[in-house]
Amino acid sequence: MRRSGLACEDCGEVVWLSQGGVNVRWLRDREHIVQEVAEHSTSGLETWMQQGLAFLGDHRGHSIVVVSEP
Ligand SMILES: [Zn+2]
Repeated sequence: MRRSGLACEDCGEVVWLSQGGVNVRWLRDREHIVQEVAEHSTSGLETWMQQGLAFLGDHRGHSIVVVSEP
């Protein structure tokens, strides 16, 4: 499976997540839901979700796009 990631068009930073584009896009589009789940979960989120949320948090209000390895 090709890796996919989140890229900030404003900062030029990219975080690669060991997931396909469908999952990465899902996380970006449902950031608030995933955050709610994280707050009420004792087991925590999968690592890639934590990494994705951290990136989205760092770049709040910026233009985030989903990218895939060529
Ligand atoms: Zn940014």
